[in-house]
Parts: sequence; C-alpha cells; structure tokens
Amino acid sequence: MAVRATARGSERTDLGGTEVDVLICGASFAGLAVARELANSAARVLVVDRYEIGERATSACAAPTPWLLALGLERSIRQEIPAMSFATPHGRWRYPLPWSWSSFDYRQLCQELWRQCGQARFETAKVESLVEGGIKTDRGIIRAGMIVDALGWRRVLDREGYQPPDAPLSRGLEVHPHDDRGEDLDIWIDRSLVGRGYGWSVPAGGERRVGIGSYLPRDHVREPVVELASRLDCDAVNYQGNWFPHRLRDATGDQVFFVGDSAGHCVPLSGEGIRPAFYFGIACGREIRAVLEGKQPLAEALVKYRDFSSSHSRFYSLTLLLQQLLPALPPRVLSAFLAVMSRPWIVRRAFGWYLNQASPSFADAGSAAEIQQPVAAGV
Ligand SMILES: Cc1cc2nc3c(=O)[nH]c(=O)nc-3n(C[C@H](O)[C@H](O)[C@H](O)COP(=O)(O)OP(=O)(O)OC[C@H]3O[C@@H](n4cnc5c(N)ncnc54)[C@H](O)[C@@H]3O)c2cc1C
Repeated sequence: MAVRATARGSERTDLGGTEVDVLICGASFAGLAVARELANSAARVLVVDRYEIGERATSACAAPTPWLLALGLERSIRQEIPAMSFATPHGRWRYPLPWSWSSFDYRQLCQELWRQCGQARFETAKVESLVEGGIKTDRGIIRAGMIVDALGWRRVLDREGYQPPDAPLSRGLEVHPHDDRGEDLDIWIDRSLVGRGYGWSVPAGGERRVGIGSYLPRDHVREPVVELASRLDCDAVNYQGNWFPHRLRDATGDQVFFVGDSAGHCVPLSGEGIRPAFYFGIACGREIRAVLEGKQPLAEALVKYRDFSSSHSRFYSLTLLLQQLLPALPPRVLSAFLAVMSRPWIVRRAFGWYLNQASPSFADAGSAAEIQQPVAAGV
C-alpha cells in the first residue's frame, strides 16, 4: 500500500488569497511537462496535486526510450525493452522494434522532471472546481492568469462531468510481483482473458508489471489479472489501477488548457498515455510561455493549442477504429493478421509511423532553456 507523504495538520495551511501567473493542476506526466517548459521564466508558476510529486503511480510506466532520453530522464529507467511479442490462443509473434520501450521508476521520473521545472512552486491540494479567475481547492481559492487541467481522465475543471462506466473510458488493473523473468513487452489478445482488450507483462528490472486493460468500461478486470498472473506463475500482489480515456476531447474550454488524459490524449488501442502527456504538455507549455513573453494574448494561445491538439484527430480516429475492429475479428483472422504484421519491414514501417505521431524530436525543438525574461502582462 502506498505511504501518504502528503502535507497534513499544521502543514496544510490555507492557500486562499494565493495569486499566480500560471496554475498547473496535476503533477504527473502532463502537468510536469507543462511546468518544465516554463522553467527559467520569472513567472509565478504553481503546481498543485492531491499527492506529493511521484507519490502514486497508476501506470505500468513504459514509454519509448527516445522520449525518455530527449527529456533527460534516463536515470529513472529500470529496464530497456527492445522487442514486443503478441500472443493469441493460436500463436505468438515477436516484433523486434526499430526503437525500444523502457520501463521506469515513477517516483524517480517525476522527481527528475520536477528538478527541471526551475522556479515553479508545488503545493498539495485537492482541486474541486473552476471558479471566476481561479480554482477552488480544499485549501482555499487560488487565483491565476492561466490555468491548466492535467488532472487525468476526470477532467475536474470541465463543467460537464465524465463518469464511468458510461464515458468513453477503458479500465486497467495490474499487479507488480518481484520477478526477474522477461525481456520483451508481452501482449495477450485472448478472449478467455478479456472480451475486448488485452493483457500485458512489462519487465522492470527485478519487477514485472502484469495487467489487463478492457476497452469496455463495464467489464471487470480483477479476475482476468489474477488469471494472467497465475498463467505466468507470478504472485498477484501490489495492485494498482485506473481508468484511461479512449476518445480525444476539446483541449480547451472556459479559459482552461486540458492536457494528457483530461483531453483524451491517451492513444486508443494501445492505451499509451505517457508519451502523449509529455508531447501535448510541451505544446501547451510553449503556448503559455509565448503569452508570458508578451508574444501573444491568452485567447490566441488557447486557440493555437486547441487547434494543435485537434490536428491529431485523424490519428486518434484511426486508432479508435482499430480498437473497435481488431478485438472483434475472429481469433484465427486476428492471428493471421499479427503473423503478417510481424515481417521485419512491416514492423519497422508501422512502429516508425506510430512513434512519429508524437516524435521525440518535438521535445528538443525550442527547448525550455531558450525562455527569455517573461512579462506577466497579457496574462
Ligand atoms: C493500469 C494502467 C497501466 C498503464 N500503463 C501505461 C504504460 O505503461 N505506458 C503508457 O504510456 N501509458 C500507460 N497507461 C496510461 C497512462 O497511465 C495515462 O494515460 C497517463 O498517466 C496520463 O497522464 P496524465 O498526466 O494526463 O494523468 P495522470 O497520470 O492520471 O495524473 C493526474 C494527476 O492529477 C492528480 N489529481 C487527480 N485528481 C485530482 C484532484 N481533484 N486534485 C488534485 N490532484 C488531482 C493525480 O494525483 C495525478 O498526479 C496505463 C494506465 C493504466 C490504468
């Protein structure tokens, strides 16, 4: 069970009356990527989260290695994973990738990212709602010129709620046994485990992250996780789980920037949400930085960020279509498809295309170090 390190008692002072230039709600992948782009600015940047930074992971924590390197996060890597394997009841195919995945330590990655966030301040607070010119938290109202919702799938700062199991959300649950086995990122597409979804095993240097994701939010995943762990002969211990979105949503609204899962940036089909949270977080941070530098008004930043996000809608529609189509194929047809796809030149093309939808080169272009002295005016 995770140990709460969150400020308590006398440490939980009232934040009411606090005013900042940029308020980033959520200190996970998306929120920290936004804050990182504002490093070296003289702006008053406040990041809030209900937990301490890196305290609570809800993910198998595997991301493309080139992205982790581009962000200077190599020290958080626990294991590099050069290949994937896909198994059905009719066979197993190994795909050596043109780039590798890496599993990482969540706490260390978040702390490394935070170290790159310069002068930004952090407070623990539970965000409750949007109010005129700011947000309401359990520690009072915080006012801000610009507000980012990086709070995950709940999209807390939207006036329209988003509630499972009726919302377009997938559900995931995994266990983390100690286990030295495994070199590949293994995927199972097997209806005897989960009707519409997949199972995974991610090796993480002495630990294995074994989980099930269901695209159908009404389908429970606990028993399938126990079953997969037992098939792999490992202990079903250290559970963690969450919902993750599979539909792109408006990336702005009511003066708020939505980033990561709150904007539906998690990729349908693969359920990969960390890289998109970095990618769109950087894009959002750059628009906010241009406002701080007096290069554009907030209204323009909101429009440009919204358009940037929606310019990826074809990719999201295609992956959503595949998410609906592939698990519905008769298992033998799906197996034949996976066998064809395993040809080395197809793997190279397909996975190269997939990475390029949110390329690691985006992290290098216009790095945070280039930030000039900002002017808070125009906020
Ligand atoms: C079991 C599972 C395994 C996964 N494995 C992978 C994987 O290996 N690779 C991958 O790319 N993706 C994976 N995903 C998806 C990925 O975890 C998400 O897409 C990703 O975490 C989204 O990042 P985010 O920063 O947008 O949101 P989150 O990581 O959900 O962060 C939201 C932050 O907001 C805080 N918060 C929420 N509500 C409040 C509130 N009211 N007040 C204050 N703070 C609040 C939370 O504490 C958290 O820090 C997995 C998902 C699940 C469920």
